[in-house]
Amino acid sequence: MNILPWHKGNWEELFTVTEKLPHALVLYGPCNSGIDIFTLEASKSLVCRNHNETEVYCNTCQDCNWFDSNSHPDIFFVGATRIDEGTSSNNISIDLIRELKVFFELTPHQQHGKKVAVIFDAHRMNLSSSNALLKILEEPPGESIIILTTSDLSKLLPTIKSRSRLISFSNPNLEEAKEYLGVANKQELLPFINLYAGNPLALLNDHLNYPLLAEIIHCLQQGKKFDSSNINPNWFVNGFPWLINLIQKWAYEILLSKLTHQQFYFPAEQSKIADLASMANISNLLRFQKKLNDLKLYASSPINKEINLDIIFIDYRKIFI
Ligand SMILES: [Zn+2]
Repeated sequence: MNILPWHKGNWEELFTVTEKLPHALVLYGPCNSGIDIFTLEASKSLVCRNHNETEVYCNTCQDCNWFDSNSHPDIFFVGATRIDEGTSSNNISIDLIRELKVFFELTPHQQHGKKVAVIFDAHRMNLSSSNALLKILEEPPGESIIILTTSDLSKLLPTIKSRSRLISFSNPNLEEAKEYLGVANKQELLPFINLYAGNPLALLNDHLNYPLLAEIIHCLQQGKKFDSSNINPNWFVNGFPWLINLIQKWAYEILLSKLTHQQFYFPAEQSKIADLASMANISNLLRFQKKLNDLKLYASSPINKEINLDIIFIDYRKIFI
């Protein structure tokens, strides 16, 4: 089995409780917290004809083989990046839910077997697809299980949630994250973990951005001597909100160092941040943070990013006296 170590409790919660599994499960938690990995493993276990008492699949039966080749007749994925590559950001249409209904109307391939459907990122359902799903949940077919995953539980209809068992997923604690990076042989990335909300998966997945992060941090370290000519179009590659968010964290770190001599987001830059904090004028720093907050409100709209960034860095230089 291939679930993340900090999801073992979720696995037990799902499979070892004595009550029968409900027809619908909602697995929710932060983005990139590995819920999809968990969901695929759980789905495979649910259809494996030889699964053991803790619902771990056998990996040798025909069900497991079918599952691995993405051709199990009793499994239906809606909106999976696994089979719908490129459509994962789209809404889940009512047509997809209608297809799901048809899937449940067919008898299971395996006698007494379960039919399992997964709706990935279920918060992408609109009102009509949500209502169509609700109809299925109101009269669930015999041995059926629908698993919904989401990073935004508030966007699911209350009537869907009330008919489901909700299972909460979280990011690992620092010790677990450290161990995970150790197993991946990437301990050196641990100082960046808070930049990724404590999520080692997000940290590892973002490897293509490390050189960019290093470049921007290097420029921010210059403080008063920050040279705007070093800004290059690459800085906008993840979107303007991403860049503003990074600068906000940097400014927060300077403030934190100034007030408490502690570090949170950039512990690897401890001495440089402390130097900048010692030169920072606190009123100018707070004013700079306010400007970043204001800019963030419209950072996603079509504004002239270069000009706005130039202005931001004029204010950034003014922080240091
Ligand atoms: Zn099996």
